[in-house]
Order: sequence, then C-alpha cells, then structure tokens
Amino acid sequence: MGYKFHTDQTIEEPFFREMAGQFGGKDTGKKVQGHQAYLVKCPCCKRKKAIFGMSKHRNTFILLCPVDICTNRGGTVLHDIIKNYGDKSIQKRWSEARWQTTYTDNGWKGIKNRVPYEDRRPKDKSFKQKMDLKTETSFIKMTCESPDLGCRPTDPSQLS
Ligand SMILES: [Zn+2]
Repeated sequence: MGYKFHTDQTIEEPFFREMAGQFGGKDTGKKVQGHQAYLVKCPCCKRKKAIFGMSKHRNTFILLCPVDICTNRGGTVLHDIIKNYGDKSIQKRWSEARWQTTYTDNGWKGIKNRVPYEDRRPKDKSFKQKMDLKTETSFIKMTCESPDLGCRPTDPSQLS
C-alpha cells in the first residue's frame, strides 16, 4: 500500500470555493482561465481588495492582494491558503483529496478509476458516519449536543 500524489483543477475547485466563501468572496463576474474569480477580504491584511482566482502560470488557484505590506501581495497558492487559514476539517479533506491511495485490494483500484471528488463525497460521509458513530454517541451523551452543531465551513455549493 502506498500513496500517490495527484491534483487537478477539478479536485481543487470545491476547496477554492469553500475558502472564497470563508473570506466573504464576491463573484467579480469575470472568468480567469475559465474559472470564476472572487473579490475577497484578504485573510492577512483584512482589506477587501484581494482577488482569488485561477493563476495563469501556476496551474492552481491563487490569492493575490494589492496591498504593499501584505504577505499575500506576491500571490499565495491555494495549498498555502488552506494550510495558513483553513480549519482542520478542510485541511484534512484537502490532503485526502490530493493524496490517492494506490492500494489495489478490496475495491481500491488506484488512481485510474478514481471517482471525482464531488461524487465521492456522500459515500465518504456515510462511511465516516459509520466509523464515528460510537465516538459521536458518547460525545453527544457527554455534551448533550451534536458535534455537528457549531462552526462548519461554508458549503461551497451555496456560493454558485
Ligand atoms: Zn492582504
């Protein structure tokens, strides 16, 4: 069993939208490299002047801030945006989405037959629900509330 690194724009787009939502992204109405571009509140300097969209040269999404003193001025790629400003949930999903297992037994066929991220999501959820059921139940007993309440990342589909 091993892991193989794989990423493309289809995998990255939902994460891009989710982070854009976290930064209060407003659709600029312009497409950059075939993708929506958002005007966002820069997570570093907090000015509502940063542009979040597809980079022409780096083949990934990038956040560009026009403010001189800002660390995002030269452009920060989506990976670093998630690493620096994302919560644990998105960081985990990000790494799972881009690192594919190359395990060939019990149904895993490796990278060639991988299903798109969107299609895989509900299955992941039910699998996770099964796995977490015990932990979750004891957690609910302890706190009298569902661990699903509270802070959740913005649903990327609500942005479109
Ligand atoms: Zn900035």
